[in-house]
Amino acid sequence: MKTITRRAAVLFVLIAAFFIGLGFLLFSFITNGSTWASSRLNTHVFTNRQLAAAGAVLDRNGNVLVETKDGARVWTSDSTLRKASLHLVGDAEGYIATGVQTLYRSSLIGYNFVNGLYRAGKDGGNDVRLTIDSEAQKAAYNALSGGKGTICAYNYKTGEVLCMVSAPTYDPMYKPASMNTSTGGAYDGVYMNRFLNGVFTPGSTFKVVTAICALDNLPNVRKRSFTCTGSYKIGDSAVKCNGVHGKITFERALNVSCNSVFAELAKELGNDALTATVRQLGFGKNVKVSGALTTKSTFDLHDAAAIDRGWAGIGQYTTLVNPCQMLMLAGAIANGGTAIVPYVVESSSKLLDVKGQVNKNIQLSETDAKIMRKLLRSNVENYYGDSRFPNLQFCGKTGSAEVIGGRSHAWFFGFSLRSDFPVAIVVCLENGGIGLNNAVPAANKVLQAIKNSTFHIPN
Ligand SMILES: [Zn+2]
Repeated sequence: MKTITRRAAVLFVLIAAFFIGLGFLLFSFITNGSTWASSRLNTHVFTNRQLAAAGAVLDRNGNVLVETKDGARVWTSDSTLRKASLHLVGDAEGYIATGVQTLYRSSLIGYNFVNGLYRAGKDGGNDVRLTIDSEAQKAAYNALSGGKGTICAYNYKTGEVLCMVSAPTYDPMYKPASMNTSTGGAYDGVYMNRFLNGVFTPGSTFKVVTAICALDNLPNVRKRSFTCTGSYKIGDSAVKCNGVHGKITFERALNVSCNSVFAELAKELGNDALTATVRQLGFGKNVKVSGALTTKSTFDLHDAAAIDRGWAGIGQYTTLVNPCQMLMLAGAIANGGTAIVPYVVESSSKLLDVKGQVNKNIQLSETDAKIMRKLLRSNVENYYGDSRFPNLQFCGKTGSAEVIGGRSHAWFFGFSLRSDFPVAIVVCLENGGIGLNNAVPAANKVLQAIKNSTFHIPN
């Protein structure tokens, strides 16, 4: 009797162990199945560790960017489009971590939990359709003029990305055998999508942030009169201006990007108020753009002296901004204070994110948005010139960010007021010189390409 009980106990333990093991296996299968299936060691979908059997990646009009033909990955025959789309589509080896071919790999190879890779035949699984327009994408690549940097434009009402380019890039069909990826090299940061993961000194584009802080903290700042003598002295040091602007209003100071006035405002506002505004506008927080996490913008006035704050107020000092953050800020101002998160994947068997969601990290009041719309419209109307953005009712701010050991970064970010063209854009040309001379024409080229493209932008 005692033996039988012992045997029963052993059997019970064995059965329990079996079910625990089965449960663990099922759990692992559910949680890791797609990762196992899309592993580069899986020769059903990878050849020489390169993605081979998978669905196509298409632009918004159904143009193929990359597809599988006869078991091999084949890119579009347009070499400009290949280079322009590399960071968005991603390389076949997966070095570009934020590329669609990496993030949406399980969807592309046709993996699903019930059937596994059953559907993944010779020519792969599901297609992924993007929101970008190939013509706008090529225009953006050409607007970089062979330099490093990034350009992205999106519909600020829906979040649809119309183009997103990052350089340096390369032709994925003829990948260079060796690339100099060291700092300052021709292929420095080549696998990074600079729009999502680059951070740069903002220069005068940051005056938009200082202006918002001034609107919130200095009553009647718009009615005040300032004086620019060519520099603004703080203690024994001074913030130099780009000119001698004399007696000047708040609006005109933003138009001409007067460093003296914005250094004075920053000094007056203080570290706490500036830091609070910067946080309210989403600095220090990231978002997911169709599954790809952006890099946070940083602003740190910890231990900053008054002169440091003066420099910070004009976008210098230690501040670093992410281009996606700047695009969303432009979008928030354009859109009555509501920032919409960009998205690039229009349809796939699995969407990693809700499309066009509100970015709650950016808190901009409707009143501030309205005033900033007027001020940024005034920049173009009264200073840059509407002829630089024909028929676009454009608003925005330029920047020429001084950086150590090189030319300035040329910046522009802004948006159209036209109800039938709700487009915002950010341009950052690394060591590209003067914003007005270089980033503004680049922005216009892309915007005109978007306007002339065949698709209709839904409202
Ligand atoms: Zn000045």
